Amino acid sequence: MIHNPKYECMSREDMRKLQSERLIKTVKICYEKVPFYQKKMDDMGVKPEDIKSIDDINKLPFTTKTDLRDEYPFGLEAVPHSEIRRIHASSGTTGKPVVATYTENDLAMWAEGVARVMAVANIGPGDTIQISYGYGLFTGGLGAHDGAAVRGAIQLPTSAGNTEKQIMLMQDFGATALACTPSYAMRLAEAIHDSKIVSVHQMKLRAGFFGAEPWTEGMRKELERKLQIKAYDIYGLTEMCGPGVGGECECQNGTHLWEDMFFPEIINPDTLKPCEPGEFGELVFTSLCKEAMPILRYRTRDLTRLRYEKCKCGRTAVRMDRILGRSDDMIIIRGVNVFPSQIETCLTEFPAFQPYYFITVDRIYNEDTFDLDVELKSQFFSADPQDQMKFIKPLYDRIVSMVGVKPNIHILPPYGIERSMGKAKHVNDKRNFRA
Ligand SMILES: [Zn+2]
Repeated sequence: MIHNPKYECMSREDMRKLQSERLIKTVKICYEKVPFYQKKMDDMGVKPEDIKSIDDINKLPFTTKTDLRDEYPFGLEAVPHSEIRRIHASSGTTGKPVVATYTENDLAMWAEGVARVMAVANIGPGDTIQISYGYGLFTGGLGAHDGAAVRGAIQLPTSAGNTEKQIMLMQDFGATALACTPSYAMRLAEAIHDSKIVSVHQMKLRAGFFGAEPWTEGMRKELERKLQIKAYDIYGLTEMCGPGVGGECECQNGTHLWEDMFFPEIINPDTLKPCEPGEFGELVFTSLCKEAMPILRYRTRDLTRLRYEKCKCGRTAVRMDRILGRSDDMIIIRGVNVFPSQIETCLTEFPAFQPYYFITVDRIYNEDTFDLDVELKSQFFSADPQDQMKFIKPLYDRIVSMVGVKPNIHILPPYGIERSMGKAKHVNDKRNFRA
């Protein structure tokens, strides 16, 4: 079902009007209340009056992750700090985290975004949503929690970890939906299959809302089969609110973005010019209703494209293709751009392999090395190199044809690759540590 038809199914013309009104207001607030934006706009010679409609958005400055770090912790706030009701922060690998603050209205808007995604699977009163995203500064846990509350569903806040107990509660409490990262969903699925105490056939699970990391179509099929559910992508980023900036509908043909709240653009990451409709590029968002920390043209580093034709589900909200990868995740091996998600796609095409992998890149004698650890399902595993070759050869050929770089494939014994409870780590680039 559609949670909020007024906005999700609004005509394109009315949507442009609404976006124009909201952008004009947002820009005025940014200029008057946030010195960072006033300076950026002054430097570009742009005044709030120059923004007359959403078509003027490309006159505005970009915001980057570095800008957010430089303004740490509260430099981008546009309201008195006493109006803040919650603070979240994204885990950075280095240095200061990226901070997000919320007013009461911001929290309500965020919860609405998540509720729209959950409504796709008809989540409502009587449903129990097991929330296995981490609770804490990370937006996953509390974001899913508040969205479930808007839908009137029962929130089961298990957080991440303690996998054996999670699957026991999933069965005993009759969870009907699961919200977590796709990597953790896979770990739960595997634990259910290996368990002698619980069985997926005795569970009531019917939907999964998976996000916070890019995942592939192959991974979706695997999760749907193992957990006997329909699996939906839920997309978001802390800089906008958290999960719930958009989500897939029942058609599973692109992720609808809630563009009454967040205006999406696709730009060429090199020239910073807008891409043609349907062209792949970097996704950029401008918040249209955020009060605490309005953000102009935030460069997500996510690579995708947008499609504006009306969806079969009845929603007019724009659809985004599966994220090809975060440009930060891209690794260049022997001069070729490689996304870890491409490796996952190849792996999931071969039923004998588990969807787990780990890439190690190094540079030896001035040449890049590309080692790929993979796992066979236990019934196919053999330590005999002759037996292993039967599996390695077709995978090797597929990777060479899709990615264009030759990997050294190593088959590890079952459970040889570390399982993740949150966002999975897929790459160790040792070249970073060598000058
Ligand atoms: Zn749709």
